[in-house]
Amino acid sequence: MTAFWAEPDFDAHELVQLVHDRASGLTAIIAVHSTHLGPAAGGTRFWHYNDPAGAMRDVLRLSRGMSYKNAMAGLPMGGGKAVILADEQRTKTPELLAAFGDAVEGLGGRYVTAEDVGISEADMVAVSQRTAHVSGLPVEGAGRAGGDPGPFTAHGIYLGIKAAVRHKLGKDSVAGVHVALQGTGSVGGGVARLLAKDGAKLTLADIDQARASALAAELGGVAVASDAIMGTACDVFSPNALGAILDDAGIAALDCAIVAGGANNQLARPEHGAKLAARGILYAPDYVINAGGIISVATEYLARRDGRDGGIAEVDALIAQIPGRLETIWAESDASGLTADEVADRMAQKLIGRG
Ligand code: NAD
Repeated sequence: MTAFWAEPDFDAHELVQLVHDRASGLTAIIAVHSTHLGPAAGGTRFWHYNDPAGAMRDVLRLSRGMSYKNAMAGLPMGGGKAVILADEQRTKTPELLAAFGDAVEGLGGRYVTAEDVGISEADMVAVSQRTAHVSGLPVEGAGRAGGDPGPFTAHGIYLGIKAAVRHKLGKDSVAGVHVALQGTGSVGGGVARLLAKDGAKLTLADIDQARASALAAELGGVAVASDAIMGTACDVFSPNALGAILDDAGIAALDCAIVAGGANNQLARPEHGAKLAARGILYAPDYVINAGGIISVATEYLARRDGRDGGIAEVDALIAQIPGRLETIWAESDASGLTADEVADRMAQKLIGRG
């Protein structure tokens, strides 16, 4: 017992539930970090952990991250996360997903689940046969919240980049502003298209080089090798592929004024926020700028739960708040000397009643 409370990642979580279902073989942990603002929302990870302590660390850390992210997105939702401990063969059966759905249902709406690493949309549809507390289910019909979160995430990042350019470079438009994008998938590709429409100068990279080249040809940008993108001389570096890229070597390589992109957990360690700031680089905290997708997914869930129509206008209005929130963070960072990520964490803690 003592060992658990002393876990460095334990942060006064409201509930940590260990789930074991003998019949299906399900072993899972559900962590509810905070329900201060509403039901704890966050995805389910299906992963094989060599050491179950790693699963506990993940669920504690990620559920706290969801509290911060949902609060800063302006959503009436708290933070939670679930991990299903897969066996070495990653056996995933209908019975196991059903038992997981029962476990979520057993929490009576205190935790709302969604897709995460190792879990597909079809898996979540299966889970939703046993519980209504699932977000991010496929939606039919245009003009509604929900569906693929990528374009919503991209839209928020585009608005965030414009705010950063205004704050750091004093420019009201991104026309002629040079943006180097790492990753040209669902999010990075969407950001690149929006920036291209405004006349930004684009340099693109992806480990799938054909993908980056095709997009560069379509948008009139330049494609470079994926190991060259972080050192590209540019105004904005926009990471939209991997996390933990802002480590000592990554920060030393940067030749930009701004880092603003959608990848999760960009800072390798907390001290890298200060290292970026020491180089005079403006940072858009990742979980603030990349909230567009969660805004869409959560709006769809809340609308379904409350029996109303979740319209795009509602989603757009929340996404439109992302640049203003970043402005507030940067202004407070300038005034206090704290880094942007520290300011964001403090604002989130206040919003969840832990300031
Ligand atoms: P995606 O799989 O559609 O695209 C990722 C792209 O990055 C792929 O084209 C991949 O080839 C490329 N890539 C991988 N490693 C790379 C490397 N080392 N260098 C250059 N390119 C590399 O994924 P996505 O949905 O666009 O998500 C991108 C990032 O944004 C992820 O970190 C994800 O966690 C984060 N994110 C996504 C959403 C969303 O709504 N999809 C929301 C929040 C955060």
